[in-house]
Amino acid sequence: DTNYTSTKADGISAVISGWFSEISPMWPGEAHSLKVKKILFQGKSDYQNVMVFQSSTYGKVLVLDGVIQLTERDECAYQEMITHLPLCSIPNPKKVLVIGGGDGGVLREVSRYSSVEQIDICEIDKMVVDVSKQFFPEVAVGYDDPRVKLHIGDGVAFLKAVSAGTYDAIIVDSSDPIGPAQELFEKPFFETVAKALRPGGVVCTQAESIWLHMHIIEDIVANCRLIFKGSVNYAWTTVPTYPSGVIGFMLCSTEGPPVDFKHPVNPIDRDDICGKSKRPLKFYNSDIHSAAFCLPSFAKKVIESK
Ligand code: SAM
Repeated sequence: DTNYTSTKADGISAVISGWFSEISPMWPGEAHSLKVKKILFQGKSDYQNVMVFQSSTYGKVLVLDGVIQLTERDECAYQEMITHLPLCSIPNPKKVLVIGGGDGGVLREVSRYSSVEQIDICEIDKMVVDVSKQFFPEVAVGYDDPRVKLHIGDGVAFLKAVSAGTYDAIIVDSSDPIGPAQELFEKPFFETVAKALRPGGVVCTQAESIWLHMHIIEDIVANCRLIFKGSVNYAWTTVPTYPSGVIGFMLCSTEGPPVDFKHPVNPIDRDDICGKSKRPLKFYNSDIHSAAFCLPSFAKKVIESK
C-alpha cells in the first residue's frame, strides 16, 4: 500500500503516485521526492506524526511531521559528523548528553569512545524510540550500550534541572524549529546548555542548511557568540536526503581549556576504535573533520560578520 493520507501536522508532504514528496514552508518552491515501495508504519504520537516507508533506493526512511529524519543509506553521514566533530575535538570525553536523537544513531556513535562513562539521552517522543527499535535496528543498536540512560521528556526542561558543569559534551540532534524542537533553537536554551557544560566543554547542534536557512543560522551564530566564551564555529556536511542535500552544525565551547575544533585532538578513525557499534565508520575521518569548517564565501561572509 503506497497511499498516504496527509494531515495538517504533516505540512503538505504527501505520497502521490508512489512518490513521497517532502513539501514544507521551510523550503518553499522545491520538494525532494523518493520512490515509495511500501508504507511500513503510520502513527500519531502526542507530539508529531510518525511514518516509516521502504524506499526503492535509500532503504527504510523515518519521517516526522512530513519531514525526512533519516534513511538507512545516508544516516551515517549525519550521525557520524554530529557526534565525532565534538567528541574528537576534546581529550577523554566522559559524560555526554544527547538531546533529541530518539532513533539512537548518535548513541551508537558515542558508544565508540572507551573514555565515555555516562551517556544520557533526553528524547521527547517515546514513539520515535519504539519505531526506531522496530524498523531501524542498525541505528537503534545505540540503546544496547549499558552506559546509555534514556529519559523521555522535553530537552529544555531536562537541561534546566541539570547541575552546572555536569557534561563534557552535549549533542543536540533535533528536528527542525517548527514543532516540538522550536525552543531548541532559541537563546535561553543555549544558555542552559552552556551552564550544563564543564569549563572547556563542547556542544554540537543541528544547524540547518546554508542554502536554505541563512537567516536561522545568523541568529544561532549571534546568540552563540554572546553565550559561549570559548570558541564558536559553523561546520557542514552532505546528506543527500536532507533539504538542499546539506546540513550544518554549530560547534561551541565554554570558557576554559581552549578547544580548536578544526584540529581534532582525539582521533577516532583508526581501525582499533570501533567500539560496541559493531560496524566501522562509513563517513567520518580526520580530513573530512577539518574540511567541514571550510565554508563557501557567501556563508563565510555572513557567519564571520556575526
Ligand atoms: N538523527 C536524525 C537523523 O539522522 O537525521 C535527526 C533527527 S532526530 C529523529 C530528532 C528528534 O528530536 C526527534 O526524535 C524529535 O522527537 C526530537 N525532539 C524534538 N523536540 C525535542 C525536545 N524539545 N526535546 C527532546 N527531543 C526533541
